Amino acid sequence: MFLFLDPVLMRFEILLDLLFGTSCRLCGHPGDYVCSACENNFIPDSFQSCPNCGSKNEDGKFCDSDVGECGQNFLFDQLIVSMDYGKSDFLRKSISSYKYDLEKMLCVTLAKPMKHQFFRLRHKIPDEKNIILCPVPLHKKKLKQRGFNQSLLLAKQIDDENLLDCLEREIFLSDQAKLSKSQRLKNLRGSIRVKGEFGDLVKNKSVVVVDDVATTGSTLNECAATLKNCGVPYVCGLVLARVR
Ligand SMILES: [Zn+2]
Ligand SMILES: [Zn+2]
Repeated sequence: MFLFLDPVLMRFEILLDLLFGTSCRLCGHPGDYVCSACENNFIPDSFQSCPNCGSKNEDGKFCDSDVGECGQNFLFDQLIVSMDYGKSDFLRKSISSYKYDLEKMLCVTLAKPMKHQFFRLRHKIPDEKNIILCPVPLHKKKLKQRGFNQSLLLAKQIDDENLLDCLEREIFLSDQAKLSKSQRLKNLRGSIRVKGEFGDLVKNKSVVVVDDVATTGSTLNECAATLKNCGVPYVCGLVLARVR
């Protein structure tokens, strides 16, 4: 199951587990890497909502998506959210363990509700048979610090066959989370681009951009801007959670 992960790190983890015994990375309970009680907390939402106003719907598209006001400040067309972040400390903690405690094998558990939502709703994405999954890129410097792109690992778990790691980030964004919404948009402008060799492959395809968390939607907007410049007609975001 973890074949794509770094083999050296894997051997090290297995050795540690043999010496000290495994415990759940989310609650500390002795036993599996993620215990069944924690595993059962990852319940996908049964509804979606408009990415702008939050009113519930079934597919995560904007209200009156062709001409309506809700979509006017966004360049992406749809946002599929897997779980409700606001109500769940557990989810918040899990994402933090994954990204900041560098428990990269949590990608397997975290991707499950995302995979569920993607396959449940992919028929709502135009040209369903030609969908490409693409992770939000991490700048090289950040990648070096963390050692992995959390969005890429999630995307691999969701649909490895249709995955294309086709975006890259040009400017190093240090403390994106601490910036205001307008500062973020300014900071992001022009920072993401389609890697040269992939331009032709994404053209005329529906692209699903995978990220762990969406906040204002500015990162997704930036990905959508650059993809649409390359001839991508439809961009859908797919995230584990939305933080409003
Ligand atoms: Zn647990
Ligand atoms: Zn709306």
